[in-house]
Parts: sequence; structure tokens; C-alpha cells
Amino acid sequence: MIGLYDGMLVTMNEQREILKNSALIIENNRILDIGTTGAMRSKYSEDAVEWISCKGRVLFPGFINSHIHTSQSIVRGVAEDMGRAPSYTSSVPQGDDLSDEESYIFSLLGAAGAMRFGSTFISDNYAHGMVNSKAFKTLGIRAVVSERVHDMDFHGLGRKEYRKDEALGEELLNKNIELLETLGTDRNNLVTACLGPHAPDTCSKELLLKIRELTDKYPVPITTHLAQSQMELDYVKAVYNRSSVEYLDECGLLNDKLLAAHGVFLKDEDMKHLADKGVHLIHIPEGNAKAGAIAAVGKMSAMGINVAIGTDNGAANIIENMRMALVSGRIYNHSITEPNPEKILEMVTINAAKALGMEKEIGSLEIGKKADIVIVNYNQFHLTPCTNVIGNLVHLALGNDVETVYIDGKRTVENGHVLGTG
Ligand SMILES: [Zn+2]
Repeated sequence: MIGLYDGMLVTMNEQREILKNSALIIENNRILDIGTTGAMRSKYSEDAVEWISCKGRVLFPGFINSHIHTSQSIVRGVAEDMGRAPSYTSSVPQGDDLSDEESYIFSLLGAAGAMRFGSTFISDNYAHGMVNSKAFKTLGIRAVVSERVHDMDFHGLGRKEYRKDEALGEELLNKNIELLETLGTDRNNLVTACLGPHAPDTCSKELLLKIRELTDKYPVPITTHLAQSQMELDYVKAVYNRSSVEYLDECGLLNDKLLAAHGVFLKDEDMKHLADKGVHLIHIPEGNAKAGAIAAVGKMSAMGINVAIGTDNGAANIIENMRMALVSGRIYNHSITEPNPEKILEMVTINAAKALGMEKEIGSLEIGKKADIVIVNYNQFHLTPCTNVIGNLVHLALGNDVETVYIDGKRTVENGHVLGTG
């Protein structure tokens, strides 16, 4: 057993309790107990527990990164100035330009950085899903992995050319099925699979209907991009005379399994449609802001849409993305108070757990839940004084302030060093 004591616990439980001078006991991969340091130290014998002081530290539920392409770390610092998204940009490497080995290395890099900054669970979607999943196992990071499925050739998208390649769609769909069969869908395992149709404009109706059929056999999350660009909306309108949301609905994919990333160009009626169907919106604050646009997440939240956060590409710094969600939301709202830090923290914890269908297992620090825990060192100049612990995290903290990370009860980051498991 491990006993993390003398820390502050931001539980994110139903009551949103924040517990001072507290201790949390980990047994195997679960949270066995929570209480005051005094109570826990007298309840559990000195010998049975590895006691670790968390004085000056704050414990959070593991941060969940609901939309990432880890091996797209290859385009860092370049693609940001070239277009709305690397997949739609000529002259940056695309997934199938990478070998399996290269994809593994870049996936390892992307996921290690994400974990270093406090992501304990990533929803990763890209080419080479199988080798990428090996990188996640090596690191010991919780992940749900999907193949990026599409039947439009990405090499023409940068020139706004939509070239359908049926064989490509079939090949990628088969790779996604192989992932589902190999990794399985039992969320008790650390790395599992889901479905990953890329976007409404890069998947033909025939392909989306096949994915819809698969959801009967595999009732898993479906991760996609939605209303990411005007180009996407224009294409879907021209070919199907529908909005992207209507098109997905027509293909039977608009439901509470769907995690739709971006949503930058959604109209009010489409937002309402998403709310009615229980679709989860994955906000990409940093990536979208860098492309000069931002989703109306405040409005969508108010409509009842569950909003979580993804880092997409970039440095996968989830704390920075929390702050980007806060500042971009306040600019959008012309507000100095909304969204507030608590709302933002919900997006990377309990909201995200719900989006991925795992709210009973993760997303909060509660007895019986899986031990996915982020420990942040608050004993630093820029986090002092601290009168609002969540305020300090979202307004002031840096990714490197994450000191230690536990995933499934195992220490995967220690004093800022990524340990890995393999
Ligand atoms: Zn994306």
C-alpha cells in the first residue's frame, strides 16, 4: 500500500470537497481510503504502507486529455502557422508518411510529454494505432486508442481536393477493427480501443454507415472532428446538403458515445441538436486559438452539452490548455468571471470521465475509484500565496509544477521524471 499524507486533496466528488491535511491510501490500482492524516496514520500500520509526505502539495484526480494525436508531435512548432489542422495542410508529414517505428517514437514522445504535464488518460487517434498503443503501454499511461479512419486521401486536402479512395477507407477501418479485437474494450485494462472516424468531410456516407454498424458489436466511444473548419462544412453542404451535425445524425452516429472535437463553426441549431442527442464536445482551446477561432463552449455548456478538453497537437500541456480554455472563454464572453476555474477543472476530470464512459472509475478522488492521481508542488514562488487552490492551478500553474503522477496505482512520474514501465 502507498499512503500519500499531509497533502491537500481536491476531490472533485459530488460535493466538490477540498480536504486539507489529508491522506489517501492506494492499494493495488485503487483508492482504498481517504481521511485526515492523523486518522489514516493511526488506522494503517507503519509497516504495511509506504508513506510519502505531500506537504505543500495538492492532489488532484488524474487529468484527462480527451483528444490528442500523440505521434503528430512530429509537426510541432511548424504546422501551427500553416493551417487550421495538420491533416488539412500540405507540406507537413501525414500519418502514412511515417513508418511504424517512427510513429512509435513520436507517439512515445507525445504521450510522455502529456503524462509529464499531468495527463493520466489520453484519447489518442491517429495512423498506426497499434504501434502507438505499444508506446502507451511502455509509459504506463491510460489510453483509449483509435485508428484515424477516412476514405478521402489526405494528400489532396491541403489543396482543397477531396479524392475518395475506397480501398484506403477499407484498410483503415480494418485497422480500427484489429485494434478493437486486439486491445479489447474492457476499460479495466489500461490501454483499450474505440472507434475513430476522422471527420464528416473526410469520411463518405458509406464509410460512416459501416462504422455505425460496428457500434452494435462494439459499444465504445467514437472520437471524431466536427465543425473544425468552414471547408468541412462547405464540403458536406455541397455534397449532402446537410450541416455536418445533420450528416452525422443521418449516419446514426449522433449519440452519447460520440466525442466531437473542436465544434468551432457550429450554428446554434446544431448545438441544440448535439445537446438533444447527448453528444460530448471536446474543446481544443489552444489549437483553435492558434488558428484564430474558438468554440462557444459557454453557450454549449448552458445548453446542457458535456464539455471536456483535448490538447490535439502541440505540447500536450493540459494545465496550459485549462488556462487557454479559461482566457479564451472570458474573451468570448466578455467576462471577468465566466468561465471560472472550477468549471474548467471539471472539463479535464469528471466531465471527461463521463465523455469516455468511465465516470464510475475515474475523474475524482474517491474511495474505490482507480488510483489515477496528479500531485502538484504548490511550494513555489508563483503559486504563493494560495487562498484558492483551484484558482492557483488554472490561473498560475505551469505544466512542470506536476511533480508526481500515479496511474492505475503505479508511479509513472516521480519528481518530474517520467519513469515508464517497460
Ligand atoms: Zn484532432
